[in-house]
Amino acid sequence: MTMTTELSDTNGEEGDFSGYQVLRVLVIRRDTVEILRSYQDRPGVDFWTELSDRAGPVDVMVSPDVGRQLKEELTRSRSSYVVNIEDVQVREVAVETEVVNAEHPTAPHADIGLTARSAFSLTWRKYHRLADHHQYLDFVADSYSRLCQTFSIGRSSEGRDIKGIKCGKGKREIWIDGGIHGREWISPAVVSYLIREFSERAHLHEHILGNFTIYSVPVLNPDGYEFTYTGGKKNRFWRKTRSKNRNSKCIGVDANRNFDIYWGKVGVSRDPCSDIYAGPRPFSEPETRAVRRFILSHAGKLEMFLTFHSYSQLLLLPFGYSEERPPDYSQLLRVAKLGRQRIFSASGTWFKIGQPSQRLYPVSGISQDWAKARAGVQYSYSLELRDRGKYGLLLPASQIEPSGKEMVEGVTAMIEEIL
Ligand SMILES: [Zn+2]
Repeated sequence: MTMTTELSDTNGEEGDFSGYQVLRVLVIRRDTVEILRSYQDRPGVDFWTELSDRAGPVDVMVSPDVGRQLKEELTRSRSSYVVNIEDVQVREVAVETEVVNAEHPTAPHADIGLTARSAFSLTWRKYHRLADHHQYLDFVADSYSRLCQTFSIGRSSEGRDIKGIKCGKGKREIWIDGGIHGREWISPAVVSYLIREFSERAHLHEHILGNFTIYSVPVLNPDGYEFTYTGGKKNRFWRKTRSKNRNSKCIGVDANRNFDIYWGKVGVSRDPCSDIYAGPRPFSEPETRAVRRFILSHAGKLEMFLTFHSYSQLLLLPFGYSEERPPDYSQLLRVAKLGRQRIFSASGTWFKIGQPSQRLYPVSGISQDWAKARAGVQYSYSLELRDRGKYGLLLPASQIEPSGKEMVEGVTAMIEEIL
């Protein structure tokens, strides 16, 4: 399809994040939550991690004016905060400079033994548009046709293909998705890295690929992902889908609040303008309906469900909506711990394990819970990738490869454990 460029910001001043900061506010007391909440729907405010009633850090990006005001209020109430990112624009430019350098890598695919007939643009040295991700899936299907085939689970509300690739010969099945939230660029990059591992390096994983077929969808929310590129500078941090909301000018739904599991109960908003809007009803979005259709038609065969987000370095177990645990929680925990250990051995990166309600904030309507409780996928996890907030949503592209490598270790360890 033809992509329309929607440059909403023509004014250069508005078009960048000069002077914007990301503050990490330490929430210990109720009054800190109240202060943050009063800023929630203000212009010039974007929560990078979500606000909850629980104690813990909350990252929020603020414009220079709002930042001054918020810092004053926090200081007055004796709440503590640190400046995580001094200037979002400077950091973003640094990430983009890396992108430019990556256009001319010295040896683009030197380490992967490129022998196939078609080429591809993905480099894992910069972040790529949707078309490059889809082209890579075609490349893999072309080059490893006996092992891997592309599939589509449906179309987004703007008509983009929600495309994936399956690799493996086993009857048992695994689901991997990325990019349900547009702005979390590291997620599709890491999922495509995993796809590369299970195709180009399949010889290293014969036991896994002989027993399992792995279904991977690198960009589950293609409209939201593309909008972070085409929507003008101010929309680099777009999270939701791009569906139209009745009776509101605001666009989109948080796809990962839209699943029919405790829908609309906690950690969501009913305001269509909110970043965590749960939608008018469960499965209002074509993207989430596509996941439902696929997963239910594979129920009984799917044994693992992995959904990749960023950031915070967390390996999250069900359930998200409360501290209720599934009866087989200890088994899920054992597998998660093995994955975490292998990640740590590979790179020294430490992932915390827990339920969203303990580690992040209670949330309802998330895909991981739905896959576990409604579709019966036993090993269902959400992973929040690098980092812990130094760069946050602006993780430099130089961290794609190390993130991909450590996830190959973690994911293969987890699959081997259930083999
Ligand atoms: Zn996310």
